[in-house]
Amino acid sequence: MLAEFPSVPPIACHLTRPRILSAMSITRNSTRSVSIGNICVGDNHPIAVQSMTATKTQNVEATSAQAEALRERGAGVVRIAVDSEKDAAALAEIRKRTTANLAVDLQENFRLAELVAPHVDKIRYNPGHLYHHQRDKPWQEKVRFIIDQASSHDCAIRIGVNCGSVDPAKKEKYDPEDSITPMLESALEHCEYVDSLGFTRYVVSLKDSDPAKVVEVNRRFAARRPDVPLHLGVTEAGMPPDGVIKTRIALEQLIGHGIGDTVRVSLTVPNDRKPEEIEAGRGIIDDIYAGRVRSVVKFDDRALNIISCPSCSRVENEAFVDLAASVKEMTRYAKDYEITIAVMGCRVNGPGETDDADLGLWCGPAKVNLKRGTEALGAFGYDEILPRLKQELDALIASK
Ligand code: SF4
Repeated sequence: MLAEFPSVPPIACHLTRPRILSAMSITRNSTRSVSIGNICVGDNHPIAVQSMTATKTQNVEATSAQAEALRERGAGVVRIAVDSEKDAAALAEIRKRTTANLAVDLQENFRLAELVAPHVDKIRYNPGHLYHHQRDKPWQEKVRFIIDQASSHDCAIRIGVNCGSVDPAKKEKYDPEDSITPMLESALEHCEYVDSLGFTRYVVSLKDSDPAKVVEVNRRFAARRPDVPLHLGVTEAGMPPDGVIKTRIALEQLIGHGIGDTVRVSLTVPNDRKPEEIEAGRGIIDDIYAGRVRSVVKFDDRALNIISCPSCSRVENEAFVDLAASVKEMTRYAKDYEITIAVMGCRVNGPGETDDADLGLWCGPAKVNLKRGTEALGAFGYDEILPRLKQELDALIASK
């Protein structure tokens, strides 16, 4: 990105304050306009900032209140996880209690689209999750079902590809070391198919926990499909301030190049602090547009990297947030080692999302599951996990 400021020398990465540059003139990609409730994204509309509720979806009062709090803080879209018919029934009630533009996140059960579409403005589906239910049905049939529901109920779509749950058929085709091409090809394939259905009211997201990969995959996608609006984010960015910094690193490089129409800063924070995601996203965008850019560094891959999911309604034990903080604290002594530790809040995404980490933890109701790479090492009580993790971390350091 700095190459676009020929008169400005590169900014040293140790600067702790944003350096003030003259306001940037960013030529944004001319993506198509997609309406989501009362906002539009793409086609030079202001970049929208999104967030996701983390309360139990069936707790209608708490989820409506959180959706409203996010809207009041400036959320363009508020996403809610829906995993069951009971969640979908709660959503109908939530819809009556908030004016936020609502999106849902469908996991494996694509048929829930029928129940949620009447109550939301956008449906997100993940191409990598369409294989689990009704395995005999081709994915195209499932997508067509979701698109039909979206069309009938005035909803936009997000095709949301995530590094932890990439279409297995795409992964098989490429070098296991190359995690980016399968994500890219999966997104492109789905765009082509959704286009062929005559539906163009969609955005795409390609998320990874590594900001450098987020930058690469989104740049490659934007080069191939400059017409499709992109929702940007770094998944499992972790706790503030690190989570904000990781996201900033990716967004500066993408938005600074005209790529990106909506963003989310995924942060691991307690429920009452969720609106911080909106403030962080707005702050990053405003800084980029004002020319207040930080050093655009490649995320430091020679140091300890702790990633943790932002938490959502699927968290089964709220001790997860404290655990993520304790892991960060306990592992400080290993800060100079090139090791990634992932801490995830649930069994839905935890097992897959931790595969690429050197050490992974995913939280169940009473136990925390520990992994070394893809290998499961067992489940431990919340009061037992830290010493067990330390034992593994020490062994890993000793082997380096
Ligand atoms: S890992 Fe689970 S709890 Fe964490 S954000 Fe993802 S779905 Fe929610």
